[in-house]
Amino acid sequence: MSNEHGSSNGSSRDDLAIPYAWQMTHWQRLSQQHMDQKLPHALMLSGHKGIGKYHFAKALGYYLLCLSPVNQVPCGRCKGCELNLAETHPDFFVLRPEGTSRVIKIDQVRQLTEFLAKTAQQGGKKVAVIEPVEALNVNAANALLKSLEEPSGNSSLILVSHVPSQVMATIRSRCQQIAFQIPTSEESLAWLTPLAVGQDPVYLLGCAGGAPLAALDLLNGDALEQRQSLATGLLSLSDSSRSALELAAELQRGEPLPVVESLMQWLQLGLKRQVTEEVSVGNSVEDQLLALIGTIPSAIVYRFWDKIVAVKRQLLSSANPNKQLLLEELMMDWQALTRQSVQVSQSRQQVMNGLL
Ligand SMILES: [Zn+2]
Repeated sequence: MSNEHGSSNGSSRDDLAIPYAWQMTHWQRLSQQHMDQKLPHALMLSGHKGIGKYHFAKALGYYLLCLSPVNQVPCGRCKGCELNLAETHPDFFVLRPEGTSRVIKIDQVRQLTEFLAKTAQQGGKKVAVIEPVEALNVNAANALLKSLEEPSGNSSLILVSHVPSQVMATIRSRCQQIAFQIPTSEESLAWLTPLAVGQDPVYLLGCAGGAPLAALDLLNGDALEQRQSLATGLLSLSDSSRSALELAAELQRGEPLPVVESLMQWLQLGLKRQVTEEVSVGNSVEDQLLALIGTIPSAIVYRFWDKIVAVKRQLLSSANPNKQLLLEELMMDWQALTRQSVQVSQSRQQVMNGLL
């Protein structure tokens, strides 16, 4: 019961963002640049979603605002760190889409430009983190451009992008680009395993395409159940126990992007299985699905793949695609290609039975 040291008040050095182990190369270079006073005023951290870029951006921001860093990380004790621990530092600004919105609105960018125009309240630097930059629409991006062109005072802008190709070239060209790779599975599993209580970390990491934070995220909410029910749904289309339109209608209630991403991943694994025969995700429904994909001629799988890539591009574009139509088409195509393969294997089976 003793709590005299206040150990449960939630505020400890652990709350200060420290970069992940797989980010140390970037960290050492950038923190060194900062010490040498050579850190560019605008950085763009880009790479796959779910590998910790936002965390890195925050950590770097805290570091830039720390008054006496220790061993190239924030000290955790100075006034700047105290304020950041409490998430109340007046010279640290985070720009992200609000609530469930996917876009960063121009009004939010105006708040940022006002912040940048003011002098730092703590007398040091000002830091702004924008995540993800592709969430800025054209007007918002243009409003930001001025701040990138004419940096005001002692300020640093740290932009985060999951899809840098969707960021306006004029914004990209004004930032130093820092590309983050997906960490190796050893690095990811070392971090993920102690956190993935009750779940197979290898399976989670596989579901998340190797992105460790995205893998951990799967434990929140019903992402894993949805993935299972999608796999079951896709199997039911192949034996025609359900209709493509019925499944599309069901999928439409959720987000279409995870559907597309799971499908892409299964196709990739299914193709691999055609070659190695060894791929297993350790989950029976998904393994059945991979086995099914393994029976489809690879040329047909590739054609379907191209279609999915096009659908994904549409879903990510700022134009408002017709999700119902996209999902219906995908499910109908999937049904057509799996039925074909099932028919082929059934007639093969009939021939075999006839021979016996
Ligand atoms: Zn400090």
